[in-house]
Order: sequence, then C-alpha cells, then structure tokens
Amino acid sequence: MTTHHPKNRLFQTSTMAALLDAVYDGDMTVKELLTHGNFGLGTFNGLDGEMIVEDGIAHQFRADGLASDASGNLKTPFACVTWFEPEKTVTIDGPCTREEFEHRVNELIDNPNLFAGIRFTGHFNKVETRTVFCQHKPYPPLLEVVANQPTFTMTDMNGVMLGFRTPPYMQGINVAGFHLHFLSENQKHGGHVTEYLLGAGKLEVARISELDLSLPLTKAFAEADLQPVGLNEAIRTAEGG
Ligand SMILES: [Zn+2]
Repeated sequence: MTTHHPKNRLFQTSTMAALLDAVYDGDMTVKELLTHGNFGLGTFNGLDGEMIVEDGIAHQFRADGLASDASGNLKTPFACVTWFEPEKTVTIDGPCTREEFEHRVNELIDNPNLFAGIRFTGHFNKVETRTVFCQHKPYPPLLEVVANQPTFTMTDMNGVMLGFRTPPYMQGINVAGFHLHFLSENQKHGGHVTEYLLGAGKLEVARISELDLSLPLTKAFAEADLQPVGLNEAIRTAEGG
C-alpha cells in the first residue's frame, strides 16, 4: 500500500509573529509534523534548539552544539515542512556567496509571490549557524533570546542546507525572504544559517503554491499580540543573518 503525499505543499504550524511574542510551546508533536512532510525546518517547545527535517528525520541542534535525532514525542511551537519534489536541479560551481546563491534561486523561481523550497547539497567553504537556548517560564521575548544566541562557524565541510523562500506579503505568518537551516554530512553539526560561502554542489528548487496552516489551540496563542508595531523589523532582527 502506498500513501499519497501532496508534493510541494507547505504545511506550517503556528506563525512567526507568535514565536516573536514568546509563544514557545505548541501542541503538535514532531511525530505528527512528520506526517505532513519529509523536508523542512523549525524549532522545539521551550525553544530547545533548532530543527531541520531532512529525508524524513527531524534533527535537533541544541545550544551546546550537539545534534540528535529528535524524539517523536517532542513538540514544536513553529515548523514548516513539505514533501519536497525538486522541479529544477542545477550545479553550483563554487565559490558562491550568499548573495549570488539567493540571486540564482530567484532566477530559477522567478515568481516572487510564491513560496519556494530550496535544497543545496555539497561542499561548504564556510557556513555560520546559530541555535537557541532552551527557555524557562516566564518566557522572555524572542529578541532577547536571540541576543544571546550561541553561534558556530564551520569551514570546509560537506552537508546540506535547506529551507524556504517566503514572499514578502507573508511576513508575520512566516519569515519573508530566505530561511535556511544546515545539517553536516556526519549529522553532528548544524542550525539556523546566518551566512555562508558555498563550494561545489547541487541546488534543487521547487515552487510552492499551496499552504496548509495549522494554528495552535493553546491559551498562549489566544492571548498573543500577533500584529505588534515594528513586526517587520523585529522578524528581520530575530531571523536575519
Ligand atoms: Zn531558523
């Protein structure tokens, strides 16, 4: 028996604005999230590290820099996954800067009003990542958390960088622009990507035109301010490079 999965449809739980307003506990398990896609990114309840979903496995990068296969019973306050089916595959000849890479993706997916799924597999001359510290209640706002984020710089490493390009009008629901996470080939290192210089590798992209948004039924989500003044600026600070 085969299960039919919708290709390149984005499934998202909660919103970026909710995360920004310290709604760090969601009601969806990672196990349930993985029934909606085999590719994507997010975080864990209590902001206990960054998540990358690659090949159907959710990897957790905690603040101590250690990576592990995330237990199915952990929950997520924000995550985006899809059943990724590349529409275009091209070779990247490094060195390729972040700016050049984003330009390349924008050329391949030349409709700025659609989401895009993006995966680069190959060599990284350099990749900088950050992760987050597990938070305790009362939760501080995300901008305070990321001000103290642990960062890592890796050089000459093979791995995969994947995630999404989100159209500008979706700011607040998601993160407008590029949002990518990294996983090293040995699956020991990774996190939220802030900067990189790519070597040679393979770039795969797909347009995403369908969105499935699951909102938390929690009290914290009900009480959150999801349209604060300065939302755009705050998301750029929290999620940018
Ligand atoms: Zn991230």
